[in-house]
Amino acid sequence: MNDRYSRQILFREIGREGQQRLLDSRVLLVGCGALGAAQAEMLARAGVGNLRIVDRDFVEFTNLQRQTLFKESDAAERLPKAIAAKTRIAEINSEINVEAIVADVNNSNVEQLIDGIDLVIDGTDNFQVRYLLNDACVKHGKTWIYGAAVSSYGTTMTIIPGETPCLRCIFEDMPDAGSAPTCDTAGVIMPIIATVSATQVSEAIKLLVGDRAALHGSLMQFDVWQNDRHAIKLGAPNPDCPTCGLLFMPGDLPLNNTCKLMLLKTYTYIRW
Ligand SMILES: [Zn+2]
Repeated sequence: MNDRYSRQILFREIGREGQQRLLDSRVLLVGCGALGAAQAEMLARAGVGNLRIVDRDFVEFTNLQRQTLFKESDAAERLPKAIAAKTRIAEINSEINVEAIVADVNNSNVEQLIDGIDLVIDGTDNFQVRYLLNDACVKHGKTWIYGAAVSSYGTTMTIIPGETPCLRCIFEDMPDAGSAPTCDTAGVIMPIIATVSATQVSEAIKLLVGDRAALHGSLMQFDVWQNDRHAIKLGAPNPDCPTCGLLFMPGDLPLNNTCKLMLLKTYTYIRW
């Protein structure tokens, strides 16, 4: 292991063993806009060894105010974000393997995308993909870290299937398309991107090095303009949740976790 990670190894909670775990880890970044670009850069610098980046968009000049991996020439050439991110990360840390996938995330590829992945991080800008990701991650027992930012506020939550509530436990119904403000309608400032992505990546590193006790265990909300910060402590998954409810049917103790997961898979296939 070279000197590159020496300051991070000195951080007791990571150490040499934690660093090796980061180098061996595989993380999926869903979306490489503002949140995703910030996440990708932090994870690459930290030495997370394998990043799978999926994004369908191309770099535009309106992205440069907050999407830190990209530069003017990427926008002039309208490079796909996943490709531009891979090129930039190779300049930052050539030891990292980056798999760049230029694609929409949908029903037909979401399970393939999370396959072989240790952890999923949300950098998307829409609820449709988040709910798809939520259901696929719960079904396959993959931890994922929800994150969203618009205007000057943002939110994040770490979802560990079977241990914490999932996105549907908290917000059962997806907001109607066009009903929630977006960066295209309400704008966005970079500090909230930095705040949310830094919280997500902190959680990612804790999970990857195995320090679960340090997770925040909350639905975190921030507003960097109004100076608000809330942490709503999360309990157990909601037994009425349509996505994880089958893992926690009341009185179902004779079912072991494998049975519950099989039931959930069947249920999810029907729903899809
Ligand atoms: Zn749930």
